[in-house]
Amino acid sequence: MKIVSVLTVLFLLEISIQAGAHSFELDVISYKLKLAPNIDEKFISGSVTIKFQIDKEANSVAFKSGNLKIDKVTGDNLIGFKNNAGTLLIELSQREKRETELTIDYHGNPTGGLLFDSDLDYAFTVYSTSQWMICNDSPGDRALFEINLSIPAGMTCIASGELISEVHKDGKVQYSYRQNYESPTYTYGFAIGNFRQAEEKLGKLSLLYYAQDYSFDQLMVIFRETPTMITFFEERSGITYHQPTYSQILIGDYYQEMAGYSILKDSYGKLVLQDSTETNLISHELAHQWWGNRVTCRSWNHFWLNEAMATFMSAAYNEYRFGEEVYLDNINSYYQVYEGIKHRGNDKPLVFKTWSNPSKDDRNLVYFKGAYVLHLLREKIGDDTFWDAIRFYTVKHFDKSVETDDFRRALEESSGVDLEDFFNEWVYKNES
Ligand SMILES: [Zn+2]
Repeated sequence: MKIVSVLTVLFLLEISIQAGAHSFELDVISYKLKLAPNIDEKFISGSVTIKFQIDKEANSVAFKSGNLKIDKVTGDNLIGFKNNAGTLLIELSQREKRETELTIDYHGNPTGGLLFDSDLDYAFTVYSTSQWMICNDSPGDRALFEINLSIPAGMTCIASGELISEVHKDGKVQYSYRQNYESPTYTYGFAIGNFRQAEEKLGKLSLLYYAQDYSFDQLMVIFRETPTMITFFEERSGITYHQPTYSQILIGDYYQEMAGYSILKDSYGKLVLQDSTETNLISHELAHQWWGNRVTCRSWNHFWLNEAMATFMSAAYNEYRFGEEVYLDNINSYYQVYEGIKHRGNDKPLVFKTWSNPSKDDRNLVYFKGAYVLHLLREKIGDDTFWDAIRFYTVKHFDKSVETDDFRRALEESSGVDLEDFFNEWVYKNES
């Protein structure tokens, strides 16, 4: 039961994903962001340079702008702009190339997506990237990301990408990070504050653990499974974790994966200290470094591909680490959540028609019915075949966006098993 309740908390807190309209014609190549957050005033000022491709005939381009106020837009082919109800519409003149670059200066007091705590003197991002950076927030649009953060000297800074420079000036430090692979904007993030830090190595990879309330020794205990987890997911995915760092931060009230790091609810650390087998949320968020961040649902309608996989993988890790009984307990707890949803008459196909205003049961479905369905799939095609197929799927679609049919076809290609009936029964239809 404990696992169920903890995991239920996970989905409740993990995000508020907003349904993004598809922008198939807009393809962002890179974001270069300069951002100065002010924790006391819960205020940011920023400037983002967006390089993108769009049809040459298109006479405008739209980005999401949250509650941000636009100061200035500059760039080639610019005619004018209008910022209204969270959408920045920029008028463009005729162009010879698809590629265009614009720089947008903005400021604001984000109410979501970037959370400030002036008492504890920290700030951190949780999804809803457009609340702190003008962007195309479709999960299907992968882009390179650079962030330059200007923060008070003495504060710790964690961000997506690799730290490339650190410039001290006038009591401030400018930290620059560069992410050298494309990922969707919802995976970009940062956290700043006065944190205690613990570190260990897994080969060349630095594993960094941060919190305000836990001692160095406690951090090392809370996150002690991390090296084994990374090795396990590397083996199960067929892909090495090839970023220079993986950071985990115990902070606030949220669970969220970001590119190269995760945040975990501050009080979760206590739970792990009390029960050494309580690792589900650490493994869930870590699993997203493969399934979610690097193999990503193209639209939120296929969100189960991110979340069912991460939820299933935390059970698979428990099986590897603590035995089959724990795995089956986890799967049973997922099934119980699903039974409750069915009982309330809220069962739906895992592929959603729209994900514009998902209910609590909708979210639970993609996590727990989804993970249960992956277990059934494993039972159907057999252990070795299943894991070979998971590796085949992950390697084939690494750093790409996927829909459910990509997943089904990869599994079929690898296993040689026709899965159309299984997917029709368990994934596309709601009656099982
Ligand atoms: Zn997740």
